[in-house]
Order: sequence, then structure tokens, then C-alpha cells
Amino acid sequence: MTDAAVAHTTAIAEQAQALLEQIYGYREFRSGQLQVIEQVVSGRDSLVIMPTGGGKSLCYQLPALLLPGLTVVISPLISLMKDQVDALKESGVAAAALNSSLDRQQVSELFSQISRGEIKLLYVSPERLMSLQQMLHQWPLSLVAVDEAHCISQWGHDFRPEYAQMGWIKQQLPHIPVMALTATADEATRQDIVNRLALVNPHKHLSSFDRPNIRYTVVDKLRPLAQLQQYLKSQQGNAGIIYCGSRRRVDELTEKLSAAGYKVGGYHAGMSADERAHTQEAFLRERLDIVVATVAFGMGINKSNVRYVVHWDLPKSIESYYQETGRAGRDGLESEALLLFDPADIARVRHLLDQAENGANPVDLHKLNAMAAFAEAQTCRRQVLLNYFNEPSHAACGNCDICTDPPKRYDGTIEAQKALSCVYRVGQRFGVGHVIEVLRGSSNSTVLDRGHDKLSTWGLGKEKSHDHWLSVFRQLIHHGLLQQDITRHSILLLTPAARAILKGERALELAEPRLALAKAPSRRSKALPQDYDRKLFAKLKSLRRTLADEAGKPPYVVFSDATLAEMAAEMPTRDFELLGISGVGETKLERYGEPFLNLIRDYVDS
Ligand code: ADP
Ligand code: ZN
Repeated sequence: MTDAAVAHTTAIAEQAQALLEQIYGYREFRSGQLQVIEQVVSGRDSLVIMPTGGGKSLCYQLPALLLPGLTVVISPLISLMKDQVDALKESGVAAAALNSSLDRQQVSELFSQISRGEIKLLYVSPERLMSLQQMLHQWPLSLVAVDEAHCISQWGHDFRPEYAQMGWIKQQLPHIPVMALTATADEATRQDIVNRLALVNPHKHLSSFDRPNIRYTVVDKLRPLAQLQQYLKSQQGNAGIIYCGSRRRVDELTEKLSAAGYKVGGYHAGMSADERAHTQEAFLRERLDIVVATVAFGMGINKSNVRYVVHWDLPKSIESYYQETGRAGRDGLESEALLLFDPADIARVRHLLDQAENGANPVDLHKLNAMAAFAEAQTCRRQVLLNYFNEPSHAACGNCDICTDPPKRYDGTIEAQKALSCVYRVGQRFGVGHVIEVLRGSSNSTVLDRGHDKLSTWGLGKEKSHDHWLSVFRQLIHHGLLQQDITRHSILLLTPAARAILKGERALELAEPRLALAKAPSRRSKALPQDYDRKLFAKLKSLRRTLADEAGKPPYVVFSDATLAEMAAEMPTRDFELLGISGVGETKLERYGEPFLNLIRDYVDS
């Protein structure tokens, strides 16, 4: 770099830092953000890959503030645009969204504002962008940012044809820098994005995919509803998302949780647009704690304080799993990802894939296998995930179930013998449930009617719980010692390999079932207050909600949970102290400083 260029980037860095503090109230950039901003502001195209919650928005919002003219942001979902525009306006930034909710009059007013240079950021959908080709030549345009850029690629998991056609931007406006942002990392998608957008020698930024504040846990799915309810008790009052594999299960689970007294709403593509909007809005406004949803939910959810994500069913790929779990903890506070895992889900999803017209797509099968391997892994979950995203990490993380509660293995030969011989004694004509009843010495009518209480294996396993045996049977199936005949009510059949175990020629190691969540302190991210006053935090949250309701905005637009937690730790009572809290910028201080300071002062005094 020449001296002049060095001086130029230093000046950009200083201005960027000043805006970061003043507008967002943040103290420092996250890794990679500043480099991206510098490159974009000096006119270079860029490709930014950061995990969900990594802080992509800042990468185009700050350049938008630093550059003289308009930044157009292409974003696939109206709800997402609305959130971002709300949040920006709240921080005193002139932002607007061009969407179908505006009438002609409003659109023409917006266009005049843009022509007068009064708008810094304009959010548009890809469909709408096409109609703006002429205008873009006339407007004082400085930058185009394409969010969720993986939608461009056929290899991505959300392909959208309107996205694929955006190559014209670079052709018609070669002097305007274009940036593409996504959370999808695979190489094929990345290359596709660069090609289709015709980016010129783009600056590429690839963040670490690690989300250290998310704890990954997988439990054996045995009695899922009871397990889930037990888990939800530990999350009372927190926001969470429960993903299910089908619409029917979403409806059922929503109903059950609602009957159990939870503030819960459902979300899937089979519901009307109104119903979906209602659930989403209520979740954002903290009128609902839980959303039960299919994968249809989430792309537009910019809620930063989702504390947990539960997968009731096995996701189809690690990409989806990672994207969905990534919706937890965007504020950097401790969060959890819980997967309820039944090995039978693998067969179920595989079966679904096989239904496709030309048989299962090999790419889909490969992705499913990787997901299954993750669920069955006996090593640090985070290592498995990061490895999958080509980011091998050598140290175990200390913040997943495997790290905090290592799997215990034991000599399961005798249990396996009991189980296998019981399958044999019932004539290989019954499913897992019945065989367990017999093993545990049940006197239910099916057992008595069949005379199975007379079998030598009746009651042989009564010292172990039903769940324990269920886990044993699953492992025996997994080890190829038993087979389930799905064409005949899933009855259990012995395989030839079972012989050696039954005859005592071979020993078998089994794993203890993983039933409950390991309770363990997590590694906290460094920006997080270690100790904050929970009572004050609750009061601050309730004040935030009141203010947000008055303004007709979602609460996190006022302040994030992380910001409130820091207030509850530092207890600022004066303006300048409040400004020192991460997330409090000048506009927000002006707008909300007083009520929050009053509350904290009262609290400190009492
Ligand atoms: P995504 O990459 O998923 O689009 P966002 O841009 O929504 O992520 O950022 C996630 C959260 O992190 C937001 O609440 C955002 O305000 C916050 N954030 C981004 N950059 C910083 C920073 N440098 N310091 C503190 N918080 C930040
Ligand atoms: Zn780990």
C-alpha cells in the first residue's frame, strides 16, 4: 500500500470506530468486521461469510453510513427488512424498506427522499429490485449489499430464481461496489455467488463458524414429551424455538404445550399468512415464549434473545441444524441447542428422500448421513460441527454434552443376552415395547394373554428402567444384532450375528443412555457480564417491554438482553455511565436513557 492509501484506511478505521460507538453503542468490532468495512468503503467488491448471529448487518450498515450516497440492501424477507429498518431508525439512521405494503403515494414520497439524498439505507426484495433498474442510474448510489446471498446458488439450501438473475447489477453499474453476505460456507455455493453476481476480485472474509455461547446437547429421544417438558421447566420465561419435522407434529405439539400452560404458538407453511404473521409478531413482542415450527420459521427472525432451540426431529443436514441452532444466542449470552435423537429418525428421513421421483438425491443422502454421524458422535459435538465446516479444531470445547458429561460405556454382554434371548422366546413376532414388558416382568393383559409371563426371560430385566432397555434395544439394532421388520409392525428379528453373543462367544460394550441434560457451567464469551443482578434484570426487561409496546416495536429494538444484563451488572446511574454500556448509543441514550436511569437509581437506593 502507498502512504496515501495507508492514511486513507486509517481514517476510515477511525471514523468507523466513532460510528460504532455513537450509533450502536458498541465498544469494539468483532473479528473481521473492520477489515470488511475498510475494503468496501475503498470501493472493492466483497464476499462475507459469517455464521448466523456473527454480525453481518454491521458490515454493510457501517459502510452505508461512511459512504456519501445510498446503500441498497437486497434481502429476501419482508419481516427481516422491517426489523432492520426499525432497529436502524431507533438508532437515528435514515433507513427505509421498499415493499408491497407501501401505496403509490408513499413510494413516490420515498423516491423523492432518496433523490434528495435523505435516505442512507434502502432495503428491497430481489423481485422489487428488477423494477428499480432505471432508478439506480439516477439515484446517488454508493453500494449494493446482497444479504442471504446463498439464495443465488442451486447448491445452497434456499435457492431463489430471482436471486440468480442479479448479475446485471455489476454489468450496468460497474463502478458500484457490490457485497454478498451469507452464513453458508460450502465452496460450491461460494463460487456460485461470486460468478453469478460477477464480483470483481472480491475481498473474501470467512469468519470462524464457532458460536461459543451455544451449548450443544443431544439426548436419547425416549419419551419426548416428558423430556421436553422437563427441559422447558429449566427455561421458564425464556424465549425458545422448537423445530419439528412435519406440520402435523407442529400442530400436535403446540396444542399439548398450550394445554400444559405454556405461552406457545405454532408456525408452518400450511397456516395462513395472517396466522404466521401473528405468531411471529407475538414472539418478537414477547407475548409468546415458545414457537413450535417447521423449518419454514426463522429465516426472517432477527430476535437476538432466543435462549434455546430444540430439535424434536432429526434435521436433514448439518447445514440446516447449524442454521437453526444459530438462531439462539445472537446477543452473545449463554444459549442451548437440544436435539432429541431417535435413530429411527434416520430411517424415516431416508425413506422420505427415497420417495423423490428419481430416487434419493445423493447429495441429500450424504448430508443426512453427516447429520446422523453428528447425533451419534461420541466426541466433542463442536469439534464435529467445526470439522464439517472445514474448520478443524483440536481442543474439545468444554461446552457440549459430550465434554461436560462424557459417555459412559460398560460391559453390556449379559444385558444383550437377556434382550436377545427374550426376542427369541417371544418367537420373533413382537416389537420392542412388548419385549421390554416381558423382560421387566409386566403382568399386562397382552403379556398374560400370550402366556409370556411363563417364559424363562420374564422379569429377567426388572432392575432396569423401561428407558434403559429401550436404549439397549436401539443399540442392538445399531450393532446389527437385531433387525426391525417395518413391513410387519416393526417386530424384532435376530440377525445371524446375534448367535455369537447368545452363545457367549463375543462380548459387547454398550453406552449408558443419555436421558437428561447435563447441567454444567458453560464457557462464557468474554463480553458477557459474569454476574448481574437477576432481580434488576427482570425489572429492566419489564420496563423495556412497556416502552417497546408504547412505541409499537419489538422489545429488543429498544435494547438487547446483553445490554440489559450489563446494566444489571454495572448499575449505571448517570448519563455518561449509561453510554459506557455496550449497546447504548447517543440516540438511544436520548430516547430511553431517562426511564432506565430512573429505574436503576430507584433500585440502588431501595
Ligand atoms: P447476522 O450475521 O446473523 O446477520 P446480526 O448482524 O444480526 O447477525 O448481528 C447479531 C447481533 O450481534 C446483533 O444483535 C448485532 O447488533 C450484534 N453485533 C454485531 N456486531 C457487534 C459488535 N461489534 N459488538 C457487539 N454486538 C454486535
Ligand atoms: Zn465439546
